[in-house]
Order: sequence, then structure tokens, then C-alpha cells
Amino acid sequence: MMRYKYLIVGGGMTADAAVRGIRELDTEGTVGLIGDEPHPPYARPPLSKKLWRGARPESIWRGTQDLEVTLHAGRRAVGLDAVRHEVRDERGETYGFDRLLLATGGAPRRLPFGAEDVVYFRTLDDYRRVRALADEHLRFAVIGGGFIGAEIAAALAASGCRVTMLFPDAGIGSRIFPAGLSSFVTDDYRQRGVVVWAGETVAGMRRDRSGFVLRTRSGRDIPADAVIAGIGIIPNTELAERAELPVNDGIVVDEQLRAGAPDVFAAGDVASFHSAVLDRRMRVEHEDNALAMGRLAGRNMAGAAEPYTHLPFFYSDLFDSGYEAVGEVDNRLSTVEHWQEPYRKGVVYYLRNGAVRGVLLWNVWDQVGAARRLIAEPRTWRAADLRERLPERP
Ligand code: NAP
Repeated sequence: MMRYKYLIVGGGMTADAAVRGIRELDTEGTVGLIGDEPHPPYARPPLSKKLWRGARPESIWRGTQDLEVTLHAGRRAVGLDAVRHEVRDERGETYGFDRLLLATGGAPRRLPFGAEDVVYFRTLDDYRRVRALADEHLRFAVIGGGFIGAEIAAALAASGCRVTMLFPDAGIGSRIFPAGLSSFVTDDYRQRGVVVWAGETVAGMRRDRSGFVLRTRSGRDIPADAVIAGIGIIPNTELAERAELPVNDGIVVDEQLRAGAPDVFAAGDVASFHSAVLDRRMRVEHEDNALAMGRLAGRNMAGAAEPYTHLPFFYSDLFDSGYEAVGEVDNRLSTVEHWQEPYRKGVVYYLRNGAVRGVLLWNVWDQVGAARRLIAEPRTWRAADLRERLPERP
């Protein structure tokens, strides 16, 4: 049996950040990392962003191997005995640990049809598969109008591919953007040549001589050479469940990211944590959370005992618009919109009971810190009071 002082299950950005957190405090302790992808940790955001705009493929590697880590790539952990401090993989190998981090992320939600013909765009291998098809300028159908759908549709269209998007919502990004902005973005995609079927779902797909045909619920047939879906992820909580750790839409962690058993931590997309600022439990599936939470988990595994107080931000690029966002950016909250130029540059505030809970910075940069301070202010606001708050002038 292999034995590590620190064992990390998961090979993504959270895992890489955790190794860095451990190494800030312990340069000697042995670290083992089990990841089911056949690659060492890499940055995921470029797969749907920078790699389509000329960034070099090698730029994604995190260099985790340089931190004295034993990588068990291409292995899937299937068993956890939190009492005996042991993890087992799918080949029956056992790994002992003093401290364990579950950084298992999430698996794409799948459609009930299409099997391996649908690319659930999430990994480096998915990127390579789609890139090879895009280089042939094929016709793509993109199912889903969330982060993946919006980013990959823009990347493919900008690369000269013909793209049709379909999703059940009223517009692109409509879970997070106010209706006017979502409708503006959707029209912008259309003007750039993307065919967008909003309010539409796919009932099934079949092969024909030239590729695939998607049949929509309203009876439309959509031909495509390749089909990509981004319809959300489901947190990978099986290991925690098997070990009877608390799970409730993610592995439930305390403020120091402990997962309900001595010496077991969880972080990243899979972890449900209590945000002190927002006073609610949340699970965040974005890079900044992976990096900050992973690092803190690593530090705490190495004995730091620090609370996770970070309010993560996220960002995206949609053709030549971009945004950064902090807190609860959810269109079910009431919003106050201040546009310097309608839907091209401005700030959207998301309020619950008059308090700012989230901020969307649309083509407005270097304001994430100011937005966090605003969210942390224990007060209520009238719409007019927010007018001059952001962007903060230097
Ligand atoms: P997502 O952002 O949650 O969007 C999923 C979309 O799929 C929603 O529009 C959803 O509509 C729709 N949908 C759900 N079921 C569907 C179905 N059966 N048919 C068609 N559409 C369906 O998830 P994602 O785009 O798949 O992204 C996966 C994860 O990667 C997310 O956690 C995301 O945060 C992360 N990610 C983040 C970034 C970034 O931070 N920039 C970029 C890429 C990926 P409803 O709203 O109606 O359910």
C-alpha cells in the first residue's frame, strides 16, 4: 500500500492549488494525487476561451509535478475508509493518508440520447476532439445556453464554423443576466451568424449520411456534423457518500473546509461551504473559487486552521464583450442596472431585501475588490444610491 502524508483525490485546478497551499507550509511531507484524467492538472478556462484566440496549448499546464508530488493520473478513486485513512482506486490499489482532500469536482449532466456522439465539453480531451472538428469548419449544434454553451458557441463561430445553439431558457445567460442584457447578447450572437433557438429543447438525435440530425420538442430538425452539450454539472460526491460524510448538493464543509471526518477536507466545485458575507451555504463552480479554496484546503491540511472567508468572482468572454461578477449573480434577485452605454458597458447590482448580494461588471474592469466591499456593507440601498458606487474612481 502506498502511503502519503497528504493525499488529494481529483486532478483539477483545486488539486493543484491545494498542493501549492500545502507546500507553503510543508516542503517535505509526501503528497499523492489521484486524478481520473490521463493528464497532470491544467487550467480549464482556456479550453473555451484563450486557446481559441491563439494561446499556445502548452500554456495550460500548471506544473504541479514540479512540487514534489506523486501523480497517479488515469486512476479513479472508488472507495474511501475515513476511519482507516485509506482510499482505494478502480484497479484495487490502496493509498493510505494522514490528511485527505476530496477535490473531485463535477461530472457533466448528460442527455438521455446521443451517448458518445455528444461531446460534453469539459476536459482537455474534449477540447482536442472539438478543435480537430472545428479545424475542418464543420457544422456544430451546441445544446445549452449557460457558461459552456455561450463560450464554445462564440469560440466556434469566431473560428469560422457554422453554429446552431439550442436551450430551454429565453436567452443566452438568462439565469444570471437581467432579461434586457440576455436578449441583447442573444441578438448579438445572431448578428454574428450563430443560429439561436431559445426556448427549445432537444428530444432526440439520429445519424444521417452527412452527420447528425437533432429533433427538437417543437418538431424542428437541426442538421449538424458535431454536437456539443453544456447542460450543467453534478457534483462528484460518491466517495463522500460511501464514507457517510455529510452531503447536500455537494460535500458539506465547515469553515476550515473539513468534510465531516477527522483529517478529511473538501474543496472546489464539489464543496458546499457557508459564505460568511452572504450568510448562506453555496457551491461555486468557477476558477477563482477552485484556486482560493484549494489553496486554503492545502494550508489547513498542513495545519493552518484558517477560515474560508473568500467571496469568489467569476468571469467570461462572449465575442468581444467580457465581464467579471461577484457574489449572488442570479436573475431571480431584484436588479438595479446602471449602464454607461446600454448593454455595452455598465454595472448590474443584485439585491435581496435591499442589500447588495451580487455585482455584474460588464466590460468594467478592476472593480472586483470594490464590488466585494459593497456586498460586505451591512446596509440596504435605494436604486439611486447605487448610481455612483461603481466603478470606483482611483
Ligand atoms: P451552466 O452554466 O449551469 O448552464 C447549463 C445550461 O444548460 C442552462 O442554460 C440550462 O438551462 C441548460 N440546460 C439544462 N438542462 C438542459 C437540457 N436538458 N437541454 C438543454 N439545455 C439544458 O452549465 P455549463 O454551461 O454546462 O457549465 C458547466 C460548469 O462549468 C458550470 O459549473 C460552469 O460554472 C462552469 N464553467 C464556468 C465558466 C466560467 O466561469 N466562465 C466557463 C465554463 C464553464 P436551465 O437554466 O433552464 O436549467
